[in-house]
Amino acid sequence: MPSRCFRLAGAVLAAWVAVFAFAGGESHAEGAKPVVLGARMAGDESRTRFVLDMDQQVTPVIKGLANPYRLIIDLPEVAFSIPHDAGSKGRGLVADWRFGLFADGKSRIVMDLTGPVDVDKTFFLPPVDDQPARLVVDLVSATPESFETFVKASRPKSSQKTGSSAVKSDRKSGQEAAGKPVIVLDPGHGGIDSGATGVGGTLEKAIVLDFARLFQKKLNETGLYEVHLTRSDDTFVPLLRRVEIGHELAADLFVSIHADSVRRGQKFARGSTVYTLSDKASDQLAADLAESENLSDVIAGVDLEEEPSDVSDILLDLARRETRSFSVYFARTLVSELQSAVRLINNPHRYAGFRVLRAHDVPSVLLELGYLSNEHDEKLLVSDEWRERMANAMTEAVNAFFQPRLARQQATPSQ
Ligand SMILES: [Zn+2]
Repeated sequence: MPSRCFRLAGAVLAAWVAVFAFAGGESHAEGAKPVVLGARMAGDESRTRFVLDMDQQVTPVIKGLANPYRLIIDLPEVAFSIPHDAGSKGRGLVADWRFGLFADGKSRIVMDLTGPVDVDKTFFLPPVDDQPARLVVDLVSATPESFETFVKASRPKSSQKTGSSAVKSDRKSGQEAAGKPVIVLDPGHGGIDSGATGVGGTLEKAIVLDFARLFQKKLNETGLYEVHLTRSDDTFVPLLRRVEIGHELAADLFVSIHADSVRRGQKFARGSTVYTLSDKASDQLAADLAESENLSDVIAGVDLEEEPSDVSDILLDLARRETRSFSVYFARTLVSELQSAVRLINNPHRYAGFRVLRAHDVPSVLLELGYLSNEHDEKLLVSDEWRERMANAMTEAVNAFFQPRLARQQATPSQ
């Protein structure tokens, strides 16, 4: 039995196609992104209205995701001219919401719902006099079953579970590629997922991108490495995609860079920390961090049902084990270089189940530069002098890690 919301959504979409075909002739400055000028909510737990003020009409695509209950509103790329924390307080059926760039050309709003909903109505009000155009989404409370139908209906038909990309590698484990070692730097979060916010307002997604660029510059200056970033702007990248980028580039080292907040009575935690992958966490802080890092896709509304599941295979397990030992080796090298340069947390090498470190064939570590929940750390993170010192020490660690390979390559130059 099709749910009411599904039928309504279909009708609304059909109506939109007509409206937009009509509105197509109305031209705006070529290439100008639509602007979100304001946002508000009204209503209560039985019926909640969400309104976006816009400078022009856009075509939204609305879908639902369960576990936890979320509503996703996908838009063409728009400029959000509203305060960063505009969605921190929700209303009625919406606990809170966030927004940002989701992918190239695609912006997204993700609402955390207080329970299952139906999309009762969605419509667009054209601008009138000095009133901006308005996108209106009406939600009503619903049963878990009807929400489930909505989720299924909004999942694209073309997306089928494909085989894991983890088995694509043709590089044999332990085999050393000729040429420069490939390093992938992974600035955490981005776009709709801001990561942590510092006591003084520093955004993790911005600070880790700045730092990754500086680190890339330092590594490039050595002339020894080929260095890539998983993102070079304020775009969201799903966790699995980050892993894939390292894999596709046949990276020899993957460094995820973060500056998170610490929860649960750990507010005095500070200092740089190096994490590696482990099924069992080294301690509560590491477990908490992995848990919150792994929520990145949930925050951005990625449909995890579409992801391939982990492949279990004896050869892969062997490769994984070897990769983990290299990861641990690099983590120790990094800790010993950082020790003399910056302040570290006590027990600076820790481990937990970070999804972004799951590549079976790329040695991977996650570095917390410091913790934005600590005001002293936040001050360091924005200091040019500290960043220089940190990036230099990290470059030394990379040099030490690859030194044996670079020495072998010098001894036997390829033709
Ligand atoms: Zn983070």
